[in-house]
Amino acid sequence: MMTLSGKARLAGVLGWPVSHSLSPRLHGFWLDRHGIDGAYVPLPVRPEDFLEVVRALPKAGFRGANVTVPHKEAAFALCRDHGRLSERARRVGSVNTLVFAEDGTIEGDTTDGYGFLENLRQEAPDDRWTRGRAVVLGAGGAARSVIAALLDLPGLDELVLANRTVERAEAVARDLADARIRVCALDGAQIETEKCALLVNTTAVGLKGEQALPVALDSLDPGALVTDIVYHPLITPFLAAAQTRGNAIVDGLGMLLHQARPGFAAWFGTDPQVDAALRAHVLAHAT
Ligand code: NAP
Repeated sequence: MMTLSGKARLAGVLGWPVSHSLSPRLHGFWLDRHGIDGAYVPLPVRPEDFLEVVRALPKAGFRGANVTVPHKEAAFALCRDHGRLSERARRVGSVNTLVFAEDGTIEGDTTDGYGFLENLRQEAPDDRWTRGRAVVLGAGGAARSVIAALLDLPGLDELVLANRTVERAEAVARDLADARIRVCALDGAQIETEKCALLVNTTAVGLKGEQALPVALDSLDPGALVTDIVYHPLITPFLAAAQTRGNAIVDGLGMLLHQARPGFAAWFGTDPQVDAALRAHVLAHAT
């Protein structure tokens, strides 16, 4: 780690708790790699202190911060009411990246969807998955970002959104307001996978050693690309089952790595790369 000067650029991650966050390790790797005079620190902030702390950070020389659970909605409201929102943050309704502009404006962006697509572009350069039908399992906060990003693909004809709680999926479809979205129940999703180019799991099923699959894969299109945004474990039972069938798979760690790039570029002035060395560095602490 390089020695900091008095002019070091500062950023961090706001969360409660925040000790589990991989972001300091991730940004620390890039700071070292590029020899940048800067620091990225964990900022454990209780929900009731969030607004006061964010308002103080630019005054303490911070250039910005990432925002994680439970602050993403509060960050959105702050930027909407007192700052500026990127187009995609407005669409998704949450903020995970704050940039403090020189004039004091707090700018909010959401980069999960960008990270999701960049990960697939890097790991699955054959772009067949960008066309035809995508099936997305889950309708939580992360799904909103993933779906908004997928809808930006001009070749995508249809997006089937399947969730255990159908009303929640309907709310996402209503908010994102795109005629290509079709909602169904999670237990009705299997038939939709028969002809799909991309199957995405955004549900928490498969987290931390649980063996259940969010959907049976018996009907899955053999040409479909399968991805899971859960990265703990790296190869979830869902990905393992898809791989056994011969489908191409992409794990979710790359989404985490790529979503960090826009923030790093804004705060530290360099667009960093996601590669095997970064993955290995972060993975050493991811499980
Ligand atoms: P969330 O808002 O709590 O949504 C959870 C989703 O999982 C909902 O659709 C929920 O369905 C579904 N679900 C949970 N348990 C289920 C079960 N037993 N059976 C069927 N469906 C179930 O969570 P989130 O923020 O979207 O995050 C989801 C996952 O993505 C988390 O594991 C998180 O770690 C991961 N993630 C990864 C990245 C990355 O960078 N790779 C980024 C963000 C999140 P209901 O609506 O029916 O409850």
